[in-house]
Amino acid sequence: MKEKIKHLIERLGENNIPAFYTNSRIEAFDKVMSMIPKGSVVGFGDSLTLRQIGIVDALEEGNYTFLNPWKPGISSEKNIEFKKQALTSDVFVTGTNALTLDGKIVNVDGHGNRVAAMLFGPSKVIIVIGINKIVRDLEKALEKIKYITAPLNVKRHTEFNPIPPCAETGECTDCNSSWRICNKTTIIERQYDNDRYKPIITMVIVGEELGI
Ligand code: SF4
Repeated sequence: MKEKIKHLIERLGENNIPAFYTNSRIEAFDKVMSMIPKGSVVGFGDSLTLRQIGIVDALEEGNYTFLNPWKPGISSEKNIEFKKQALTSDVFVTGTNALTLDGKIVNVDGHGNRVAAMLFGPSKVIIVIGINKIVRDLEKALEKIKYITAPLNVKRHTEFNPIPPCAETGECTDCNSSWRICNKTTIIERQYDNDRYKPIITMVIVGEELGI
């Protein structure tokens, strides 16, 4: 695995996507927090991984303007407002659905706010990923997202009404649910690093299983 990750970090580097490896969620927490200056406006793409490593609590409690659209009790209007503000945040923190061995960052969104902010807008994007999200290739990434990630994520969102059918069956039926979470697919292959535009995405790979 270590060789695979070393190779993956090299491939990401060739794609102008800086990446760091941390052995544990504790190391990952320190690494991520060291990249977020105090006082920053921080956007958030809903991520179980970031909750698990303690980043969400630290941003809620620390000296940051943390735009958390999923804070308990938040109104629908505020949810949308935070998602829009995140598009021009200082730092956007998120997980990802899958990362291929040749360095493609693959995501599927329902609303699109998370993938939009990953693509363009924030000054800095930090993506945190557990080793369980690393897959062989694009085909495997899309298969994992559709048949494992999406059904489990649907279950996590108890506010969905009606709940898409995969929450019950665990299988994708390419549904027409009004709460379908597989609407917008993105594949980030590279990013600019030239005289005018510098990379915005940094990846932190954690040597633990995290998220879905
Ligand atoms: S398309 Fe519908 S049924 Fe299929 S995984 Fe997505 S939400 Fe579930």
